Amino acid sequence: MPELPEYIATSPTTLACPECNAKPGDVCEMLNDELAVVHIARIKLAVAMDLKTRKAGKPPSLGMP
Ligand SMILES: [Zn+2]
Repeated sequence: MPELPEYIATSPTTLACPECNAKPGDVCEMLNDELAVVHIARIKLAVAMDLKTRKAGKPPSLGMP
């Protein structure tokens, strides 16, 4: 299993997929017209974007006065 956070603030479907070139807003594939498939490469991209956004924001407080 790849190491991925449980929660990603950036939705993978708002980005274009680097693997299959799915457009933002589209899923990568539909299985049986029921199950939306999003490639791992796209999720990793969203995680990277998320980390970048978090770094740009305020650093987390360590609870020190
Ligand atoms: Zn894809």
